[in-house]
Parts: sequence; C-alpha cells; structure tokens
Amino acid sequence: MNAAEDRLSKSDPAPDVLFSAGQIAARVDALADEIAFHPHLKNAGSGPGSILAVCALRGAFVFAADLVRALSSRGIDPEVAFLQVESYGAGTRPSQPVRLVRDLEVGIGDRPVLLMDDILDTGNTLEFLTRHLDDRGARTVTSAVLLDKAARREISVEADFVGFDCPDHFVVGYGMDAGGRYRGLPYVGTLPGVRA
Ligand code: 5GP
Ligand code: MG
Repeated sequence: MNAAEDRLSKSDPAPDVLFSAGQIAARVDALADEIAFHPHLKNAGSGPGSILAVCALRGAFVFAADLVRALSSRGIDPEVAFLQVESYGAGTRPSQPVRLVRDLEVGIGDRPVLLMDDILDTGNTLEFLTRHLDDRGARTVTSAVLLDKAARREISVEADFVGFDCPDHFVVGYGMDAGGRYRGLPYVGTLPGVRA
C-alpha cells in the first residue's frame, strides 16, 4: 500500500458489502438469459435498426456495460445510447423533480428499447424515462434495473427486470456514487451511518 492509499483507507473505511462482485456477475448473466427471451426483444435482430439499449447516466454505466456484454454473448447486439437525468443533486435523497440533463443523440425510430438504470427507488425516474422514450417513438420500452427499493415507491411503477431487491439503505459502488465518489467499487455497498 502506498502512502496515498494508506491515507485513503485510514480516513475512509470501505463501504460494507451488500452485493458482492461475484453475486452481481452471476445475477447479470441470469438477467441476460431472461431478457434475451422477452417477447419485445427476442428476434429483434442486431445492430442499427434493431434494439436500442439506453443507459441512464450516470449511475447505470457499469451495469449497462456488463449487461450489453452478457447480451452479446447470447446473440443480441443492440445499438447503445445514453441519456442523463438528475433528481438527487449531491445528497442522498431526491431533492428535486426528475429532469433530463442530456438527451439521446440517436433517433429511436420505431424500435424496441431496453432501458437500463441502476436503482428503482421512488419510481419517478423510471416513469419519467419511460414516458420520454415513448414520446420519442419507441415501439416498446422494456426496463431493467440492477436494484429495486420497493419500500420507497411513491408511484406505481415496476421494472420488467430486476437484479436484486434492495433494502432501504443508501448504496454506492458498481457505478453508483455518493457525492461523486465510489463509482469504481466492484461491489454494491452501504456506507456505515448513512440512511437512505
Ligand atoms: P427514483 O426516481 O426512483 O427515486 O430514483 C432513482 C434514481 O435515484 C436512481 O436511478 C439512482 O440514480 C438514484 N438513487 C436512488 N437510490 C440511490 C442510492 O441508494 N444510491 C445512489 N447512489 N443513488 C440512488
Ligand atoms: Mg440513476
């Protein structure tokens, strides 16, 4: 351990493991098996003109990267696109209505969309994004989230695919941050003392 790592580890205990890297890898693989057989997505072909896989930045970027690679090994090769929404600011609770801060840079056409997000929490983000993609002409919108915090739902929205049911804790890692930190952790963890 070099001096900088030593400083980091002393001032900053690692988050507690909630879902390990191994558990996540196995679950993402199983999700890809299910998704590949979804009626809206199977037989949709490959590449431009077929499925559009939309990653909600920023928290879903690691999940999306693993999921599209798992889909690829099952013969599904979607075009990948990104959009970005915000509701959290720097806090650990949604602090403002969902707003789109970056829109897709490709046309949807009349294509089936696979929407990938990190966490389904109050439901506002998934509802907003599904409506947005519908408005942009998606033939169908099928959603996959890594984590579902069902206890915190404010509106009636469910994802088509869920990686793990998640307890009502603020989580970080595997793409997800707290104030811009921890996105590179290979596992999903909780921060001691931080409630959702
Ligand atoms: P919703 O609109 O469903 O309340 O919130 C969904 C979004 O809030 C997620 O896409 C995620 O970006 C963020 N979010 C919700 N819970 C957590 C959490 O525990 N940790 C982190 N880092 N982000 C969260
Ligand atoms: Mg998100």
